[in-house]
Amino acid sequence: MFDVPAAKCEWVGRWRRNGKRGVNLLGWGIEIRKDVHWTQVTRMEDFQLRLMDLKERIERLKRRKRALILAHNYQRPEVQEIADVVGDSLELAIAAQNTDADIIVFCGVDFMAETAYVLNPDRKVLLPDVGAICPMAQMLNAEMIREARRAHPDAEVVLYVNTSAHAKALADCICTSANAPEIVNAMSSQNIIFGPDKNLSYFVRKRSDKRIITVPEYGICPTHHQISLEDLIAARASHPYAEVVVHPECVPEVQENADFIASTSGMLRYCSKSSASEFVIGTEIGLIYRLKKQNPSKKFYPISENAVCPQMKMHSLPKIEAALEREKPVVRVPEDVAADARRAIERMISHR
Ligand code: SF4
Repeated sequence: MFDVPAAKCEWVGRWRRNGKRGVNLLGWGIEIRKDVHWTQVTRMEDFQLRLMDLKERIERLKRRKRALILAHNYQRPEVQEIADVVGDSLELAIAAQNTDADIIVFCGVDFMAETAYVLNPDRKVLLPDVGAICPMAQMLNAEMIREARRAHPDAEVVLYVNTSAHAKALADCICTSANAPEIVNAMSSQNIIFGPDKNLSYFVRKRSDKRIITVPEYGICPTHHQISLEDLIAARASHPYAEVVVHPECVPEVQENADFIASTSGMLRYCSKSSASEFVIGTEIGLIYRLKKQNPSKKFYPISENAVCPQMKMHSLPKIEAALEREKPVVRVPEDVAADARRAIERMISHR
């Protein structure tokens, strides 16, 4: 066996293995077997060198431009490696709030970069690929919130951080999957308009005696929503000694049959502390890279190989380099919207 474990690069594209076409690497690890021709190995070494060059160029640009790279837990391994901070939405929002960097490169989706801008309107926030748009955040617009407020005038509005800045500006408080029940329970009203994820809403309802009005009724994360009870049962059968840990964006029947439900940061804490040595992970598969890195003696299996968020995977090292060089694409939010959204986000952060 001849391994080239660090060879992870998007531009490798396709290569030949035994005369057949290989797979597009798309940033994932590659294993070169002894049946692969030497010229291909040489090529892979060349690619590794180019990858090292790329990382060094990004590091130099980062220092020269006083930039901070933030990466969500679902990012590709090589993006997580180059980042200054890797975390969930709340951790990245706090990192964005505390930085004195001139530029923030946000390797996450649109609403996260907006949140970073809202907390740092004087800094330049870059989103390396503007196609990184969260479908869940798109499911709730400002007019839906106004309508819900008109229908329930005594209710307070708690919105999941996975919303646009325009939606956040109409909220009383923001929450993440790490703190949603605590935030809802801390609100003064007994009636809470909550959105946009109906599965997270289910999770909160089970941990609160408040009346939860979910807006919209159909809001979901496509990546988590497609994880089924059948996936969970099959994973338990394949890994009978593993604990099953799932995200609250999963459907209720998956939540109900898991051993533990947690945000990505909660999963990282839980798996580190648990005495179990194997885990089935019910969230976007990018988290498994960090779980393995933090717990090298433990085993982690995705509950479904299909749990991939295509939008989260859009950022790559070449795109990060290009964003730093050109200082764009820039994310901005109109100041009046940002001021109202900031109030709701800071209320969440001060709740810690
Ligand atoms: S994993 Fe789901 S909620 Fe997160 S960015 Fe992707 S689609 Fe949006």
